[in-house]
Amino acid sequence: MESNCNHTLYLVIPCYNEQEVLRETAGRLLDKLSRMQETGLISADSRVVFVNDGSKDQTWELIEALHQENPIFSGLSLAHNRGHQTALLAGLLTVKDYADMVVSMDADLQDDIEVLDQMVEEYYRGNEIVYGVRSSRKKDTFFKKFTAEGFYHIMAFMGVEIVFNHADYRLTSRKVLENLADYREVNLFLRGIFPSIGYRHTTVLYERKERFAGESKYPLKKMLSFAWEGITSFTVSPLKFIAGLGIVISIVSLLALIWSVLVKFWGYTVDGWTSLLGSIWLLGGLQLFCLGIIGAYIGKIYEEVKQRPRFILERNLLEEKKVKDRK
Ligand code: UDP
Ligand code: MG
Repeated sequence: MESNCNHTLYLVIPCYNEQEVLRETAGRLLDKLSRMQETGLISADSRVVFVNDGSKDQTWELIEALHQENPIFSGLSLAHNRGHQTALLAGLLTVKDYADMVVSMDADLQDDIEVLDQMVEEYYRGNEIVYGVRSSRKKDTFFKKFTAEGFYHIMAFMGVEIVFNHADYRLTSRKVLENLADYREVNLFLRGIFPSIGYRHTTVLYERKERFAGESKYPLKKMLSFAWEGITSFTVSPLKFIAGLGIVISIVSLLALIWSVLVKFWGYTVDGWTSLLGSIWLLGGLQLFCLGIIGAYIGKIYEEVKQRPRFILERNLLEEKKVKDRK
């Protein structure tokens, strides 16, 4: 390893109603970071930053208490629940001014923290982004595995650059986060944004564990809307699909027209009622379907043009501490 290996690592952890797991998580992370500091892998200023995503339980009180006990823990609090991706963004964009490298992970530590060393080593080797990739999904239910892997395949098929079986466990350098700040979109799908930023990157493999306490904050409904978000924010292939569909239907209709004219000349009596009604229904349905997809994109344009702030920070312990230290 090189001699300048003393960069500052910040961990960013979005938390929504995580009072059951926070203490345990903090303990494990303190232990891990201390070991990494002892071996000289990361600097003594490294921190764990919890981002409270408008929790309704004692999450923020716990974060404040942790911060009091040990300044290695810090916290941000959003004024309202904005969802995992936005909470993560708030954390990343806030800590980028303090850290050399930042790792994002979930509060339940389902992602193996033992690979942090490997991630940091890859960073020292010159990688600006290190993606954590699940080596297997043994602990997932069949349904979760099937839907999740299906999602990655569909995204790849639609031409979206995405890292297979990578969620939001990743290391990014400060440089990458500075670029992330230039992405002004409201509809956030970070897994798609990072590969599109580019730079030298690599992956590390890890085994994903089960949640040790509390329950998933990602029910099926949120998972589906997240997948939809990913597709509609990163590709216009559904729009191209409509165009293709339109062409195919036009050709079929043309052939049907030729056929019906021929039948008329051959003198058969054609009972036109069924086909007429059928085509009205079919086309009506297809038009509605297509309009729906177009509507979804218009909805996104509507959201983007408003240019509302994506999150509002209520508290920032990093800043508050700096002010206090100066006094
Ligand atoms: N999370 C969040 N805001 C939300 C929902 C979830 O910040 O609205 C956080 C949550 O606290 C956790 C992470 O996102 O740290 C991932 O959630 P979870 O572990 O419940 O998802 P799963 O692993 O079941 O997909
Ligand atoms: Mg989880």
